[in-house]
Amino acid sequence: MTKSHDMCRDCGEGAWEKIVDEKVNEGKGEVRSELLDLIAIGAGPAGLFCAVSAAGGGGKVLVLEKKGSPGRKLLISGSGRCNITHDGDIRDFLDHYGGAGRFLRPALLGFTNRDLIAFFEDRGLFMVRLEGGKVFPETQRSRDVLDVLLAECEARKVEISNGKTVTSIEKSGEGFFVACGDEIHRSRFLVIATGGRSYPATGSSGDGHSLAESLGHTIVEVGPALAPVRIRDYPFADLAGISLPGARVSIFRGRKVKEEAGDVLFTHDGLSGPGILDLSRYIRAGDGLRVSFAGERRREEIDDWLLERSQKDGARNLRSVLPELEIPARLASRVLELLDIPQDLKCASMIRKMRIDLSDHLSGFPFVVEAVGGFDLAMATRGGVALSEVYPKSMESRLVSGLYFAGEVLDVDGDSGGYNLQAAFSTGALAGRSIKKRLADAEGRP
Ligand SMILES: Cc1cc2nc3c(=O)[nH]c(=O)nc-3n(C[C@H](O)[C@H](O)[C@H](O)COP(=O)(O)OP(=O)(O)OC[C@H]3O[C@@H](n4cnc5c(N)ncnc54)[C@H](O)[C@@H]3O)c2cc1C
Repeated sequence: MTKSHDMCRDCGEGAWEKIVDEKVNEGKGEVRSELLDLIAIGAGPAGLFCAVSAAGGGGKVLVLEKKGSPGRKLLISGSGRCNITHDGDIRDFLDHYGGAGRFLRPALLGFTNRDLIAFFEDRGLFMVRLEGGKVFPETQRSRDVLDVLLAECEARKVEISNGKTVTSIEKSGEGFFVACGDEIHRSRFLVIATGGRSYPATGSSGDGHSLAESLGHTIVEVGPALAPVRIRDYPFADLAGISLPGARVSIFRGRKVKEEAGDVLFTHDGLSGPGILDLSRYIRAGDGLRVSFAGERRREEIDDWLLERSQKDGARNLRSVLPELEIPARLASRVLELLDIPQDLKCASMIRKMRIDLSDHLSGFPFVVEAVGGFDLAMATRGGVALSEVYPKSMESRLVSGLYFAGEVLDVDGDSGGYNLQAAFSTGALAGRSIKKRLADAEGRP
């Protein structure tokens, strides 16, 4: 919060106007005299889509963007290919946002994945379903997604002002004062769509949280989500790049706290891939992880299988039979090494302890988490504006009339696979439509 805002809160009602007057008299502030209908803070997918959804009925809409150009994070989404949403029934999305699915229900059902796809296809950007249901633009270029959004802003006369960092906001009788340093704008409605804190170089560095806090909102503790994890004493650094499809990942903190299956990728200092990224919102430094190296096979199944091999394939090398359990050969060899089992051991020579050790480690190899990747590596942010303080049917604040939220600034983070962009678009659409309706109601328009 800025100094001027603190002063204003201390002074009470009407003080903001006084501060504005003082600033102007001192030659420090420039007030844009026009009263706008809506200011959206942040030109990410949520802010842009909210602006597009609110505009078009004659309302004056301005988007203030901190960076020199809009949509920086959108441009790097999906490694520049933009996994915009997911295929399937929108009701299946609700389980992909940790505990936030219920809150998101009206937004997602009001503007679904099919609506999102139709929005872009109607404007000539066709979509394809790839990689287990992920939806991408046919061109696989995030730039094309952003270009459609910007063209739509232009068509609906939405003004986008880049290089404008909002530093403070104040509710006044007739709306909001929004300060970007010394430049002050006024609007009847305000949307905070400043994103989370991940990849701060793209512009989303948590400003929205302090702006919301300055208006009385609670911020649920933020942390990295969709992040890789660094592993203590990691023994697979040279196997970086190996991927384990459908691995079972369990998190332990004293007891087992969570278990899910997904693809796991070895990195040079730990683990990544959707199976880890999607669980990362629950993982903390010091947690134990167990990762199955043989798909979803349980310990007993592997034990039985090994016993059968020792009886039926006794003459074969243990190392050569393990890949039949879908374990990459180099990984099988490393596991044998770590368990002090000779590489050329014949299956028939496998003693009981070796079999138990192997089935134990292959069904859930134990790791200890050194750290969960920081905001510079995380693709999303957990925590944010408390959902209990926002109306799910409009995205309006329950505390400040006329204030709305959209996108990742909220306490919402989705799984990998297009769920975060869909949430940004759906909450943006809901906030924009709600504001458009209030503007029309106020002017007696249908
Ligand atoms: C590397 C990476 C890859 C990803 N890939 C995917 C993917 O393929 N699919 C998917 O669904 N999700 C993906 N995500 C997540 C997705 O990009 C975000 O969830 C989404 O961009 C959030 O949209 P938003 O509009 O809420 O916030 P953002 O996109 O973060 O936009 C917020 C905007 O607000 C601006 N802003 C911040 N503070 C201020 C201020 N004080 N004044 C003015 N402007 C301000 C920022 O500069 C920024 O432009 C990815 C994320 C990352 C980091």
